[in-house]
Amino acid sequence: MPWCPKCGAEFRKGFTVCNTCHVRLIDHKPDGTETIEELTPPPEGWERESPKKQRMLRILRALTFVLLALAAALLLQNI
Ligand SMILES: [Zn+2]
Repeated sequence: MPWCPKCGAEFRKGFTVCNTCHVRLIDHKPDGTETIEELTPPPEGWERESPKKQRMLRILRALTFVLLALAAALLLQNI
């Protein structure tokens, strides 16, 4: 069974990373001698979208909202 060396939680087979501490799990019960392998955070800007893409996403979200509102209005009219 995989174990988290940091919080000591036991995980089911197949888990490789503790979802609480984000460290790699080890295959034995931690006894305090393990080196805790912290997963390196993604590089700066990895998750951040470019400003252009962000604007696109905002417009898309606004469009989706308008479409949903229209659909709701039409549905209400049909009833
Ligand atoms: Zn943990």
